[in-house]
Amino acid sequence: MSENNVIKTSTQDTLTLALSKGRILKETLPLLAAAGIEPAEDISKSRKLVFDTNLPNVRLLVIRATDVPTYVELGAADLGVAGKDVLMEHGDEGLYEPLDLEIAHCRLMTAGIKGAAIPQGRRRVATKFIDTAKRWYAERGIQVDLIKLYGGMELAPIMGLADEIVDIVDTGNTLRANGLEPREWMADISTRLVVNKAAMKMKHVRIQPLLEQMREAVVRKRTTAA
Ligand code: AMP
Repeated sequence: MSENNVIKTSTQDTLTLALSKGRILKETLPLLAAAGIEPAEDISKSRKLVFDTNLPNVRLLVIRATDVPTYVELGAADLGVAGKDVLMEHGDEGLYEPLDLEIAHCRLMTAGIKGAAIPQGRRRVATKFIDTAKRWYAERGIQVDLIKLYGGMELAPIMGLADEIVDIVDTGNTLRANGLEPREWMADISTRLVVNKAAMKMKHVRIQPLLEQMREAVVRKRTTAA
């Protein structure tokens, strides 16, 4: 890596936005464009993780969704775009969440094998949302053994690894295709803009107009869709 490419932490004169790669990214870019920020090259055609933009001193990080809150909380990025599921699991310390971008809507739900009885005693629950699930079941006085998985949650009940899963449901097709059914609604999920608390104060002059423009773009999109 050449001297020029060395990544420096976000300094006073730069603005760094951490974007979640994957399904959220495509829907995030038009909202950023509405706020006047466009990547200098086609993100989808590159394996790079840091992108310059049309604006001097504004750069984009394209990283795993689960890493976005960490980058923003620790100040390596000033702003971030992440799903509420990821933010709930991370915890909201060190982050402001000023704007719902109203994209990538889905639900966090419990699910199990279609028609299967729910065990009376301790329930084995497979999920990647361990802390969120722990809180949710504890609030309801339900005893659970949580099993951390990183993907393909639907397989756990089929293979007898778990009685139930906690996962993201959109159309419900993935559950149905695997003989599972949704049980309890836990939360409505959408993508949020988050801001580092210190950056919100120190870079207010740059961040505030950005927030306003993105807010307007969200409202415009909502009203044209209605
Ligand atoms: P579906 O079959 O439409 O219910 O989609 C469910 C699968 O897609 C789950 O396994 C989720 O991991 C994933 N998924 C759907 N919507 C989202 C979203 N907005 N954010 C993250 N993952 C999602």
